[in-house]
Amino acid sequence: MTVHSSLPLSTLAKATALLSLPALGAFLVLIVRGEMSVAGVLQGYLMCLAGVALILYPLLSNLHTLTRYVKDLAQDKKVAAPVLSSLNAIADLSEALNNLQISWETRQNLMENEKNEREILVDSLPDVLIMTNEKMEILRTNRAARDIFGQNLHGQKLEAIVPNDKLLNGAAAVMDDLKGRMLEFQMIEPEPKDFRALIERFPVASTGGIALVITLNDVTELKRVEKMRADFVANASHEIRTPLASISGFIETLQGPAKDDEKAREQFLSVMSEQSKRLTALVTDLLSLSKIEMNSQSIPTGRVDILRMVKNEKESFAWMAGQKRMEMVIDQPETLPEVRADENELRQVIHNLIGNALKYGHDGTNIIISVRITSSLPNDPNFIKLQRAVIVSVRDHGDGIAREHLPRLTERFYRVDSARTRKIGGTGLGLAIVKHILNRHRGALTIDSIVGEGSTFSVYLPIFEDVADYTMA
Ligand code: ADP
Repeated sequence: MTVHSSLPLSTLAKATALLSLPALGAFLVLIVRGEMSVAGVLQGYLMCLAGVALILYPLLSNLHTLTRYVKDLAQDKKVAAPVLSSLNAIADLSEALNNLQISWETRQNLMENEKNEREILVDSLPDVLIMTNEKMEILRTNRAARDIFGQNLHGQKLEAIVPNDKLLNGAAAVMDDLKGRMLEFQMIEPEPKDFRALIERFPVASTGGIALVITLNDVTELKRVEKMRADFVANASHEIRTPLASISGFIETLQGPAKDDEKAREQFLSVMSEQSKRLTALVTDLLSLSKIEMNSQSIPTGRVDILRMVKNEKESFAWMAGQKRMEMVIDQPETLPEVRADENELRQVIHNLIGNALKYGHDGTNIIISVRITSSLPNDPNFIKLQRAVIVSVRDHGDGIAREHLPRLTERFYRVDSARTRKIGGTGLGLAIVKHILNRHRGALTIDSIVGEGSTFSVYLPIFEDVADYTMA
C-alpha cells in the first residue's frame, strides 16, 4: 500500500474510537450479564480497536491525501496526482481528478497558445494599433506602435505619446457619440510622419476595460509621392509654358507691329525655332522618362559591348566638341566582358553624360572617358552580391558642382544654375533619366566634383556573365 501523505494520528484515533463504540457497548452488556470477565472484555475490545484501526488507516490516509491534492488543484498549483491504494473507490476518484487536471492543463495550454498567436498576429500588423480605456490611458499596443512611440506605453495617456489635437479631438468625439472616424494628421516628433487614423469604439464590453481602438496607417511615403507628382506636373507645365509663351508672343508681334519688318522677322523666327527645339527636347525627355518608369520593374536581359557603344557615342559628338575646341579621350582596355543592359537605354546614359561634359566643360579642355572593370564597388544594394562590375567614368574640366547640390542633381528639373543651364539648352531631365535607367539596370551612378576643377560622373553596370543566373530567373 502506497500512501503519500502522513495521516495525523489523532484523526485515526478519533475515528477508530467512534467506530468501536457499538462494540464497547456490547462488551459492557456482556460484563453486566456476567458472561465475560473484565480482563476478557478488555482483551476483546483492544483487538476490536486494532482491527478497526487497521481497516480505517488506508481509507483515511487516502482521503487525507486526496483532500490535500484537491486543495492544491484549487490553488492552481502544478502537483502530480497522488498514488493511492487501488483497493478502494477513493483510488478511482483520484484517477478521475487526475484526468480532470490533465484536461484543465491541456485547455489552459490551448488558451495560452491562442493568446500568444493573437499577440503575434497583432504584432505583425504593419499598421500602428493602440487601445485605450475610457480615460484615454493606453492598455494595449502592437510592435509597430512601440517601434514608433517607445517600449513602455502601457498606462500612459494617449496625449502624452501622440500630442496631436486633431487625433485627440477625434478620439474624444468617438468616445462621446460612439461613431467611428477616419482622419489624417501630421506628427513632428519623434520623427516627421503623416498618418491616416481610424478611431473606433471597442465593439463589445471589454473585461480588460478597452474603450477605443486606434489604427494608424503610415502614409508618409504616399504623401511624398503625391507631392512629388504634384511638383513634377507643376514643374513640367512651367517648363513647357515658358517656350510656348515666348513662341506665341513672337507670333503676335509678327502678325502685328513687326508685320513688315524683314530684319525682325528673321531674328524672331530664329528664336522661335530655338524655343520649339527646346520644347521638342523637353517632350522627348519626358516621354523617355515615363517609358523607363513604366518598365522599371523588369530588369533588362540584353548583352551589350560597352566599348563599341562608347566609341560610337564619342563619334556622334565630334561636331559639338569641335565647336568648343574640346577633345574627347577614351581610356580603355583591349577587351571587356559584355554588360547586362538594354542597348538603347544604355546608349542614352552614355549620351547624356558625354553631352553634359561637353555642355558644362570649359572651351578648349578635354574630356576623359574611361571604361574598365573595377572591384571597388559603390555602396549600393545592387552590388552587395557582386565582386566586380564595369565602370564608365566621364570626367570634364568645367566649373564643377558644389557639394550641397550633388545629392539633388538626379531630381527632375533640378538645376544648379537655372538661368545658365537653360541658356546652354538643358531640359533638367538628363540626369533623372540616367538615374532611372540605372535603377532599372540594377546599376549605380556616383558623382565626384571639385568646384573650379570639374566633375566625374561614373556609371557602374553588372557584367552579363556574373548575373546571367538571375537574369534568366
Ligand atoms: P540639364 O539638361 O539641365 O543638363 P541634367 O539633369 O543633365 O539637366 O543636369 C542637371 C543639372 O546638373 C544641370 O542643370 C547642371 O546644373 C548640373 N550638371 C550636370 N552635369 C554637369 C557637369 N558635367 N558639370 C557641371 N554641372 C553639371
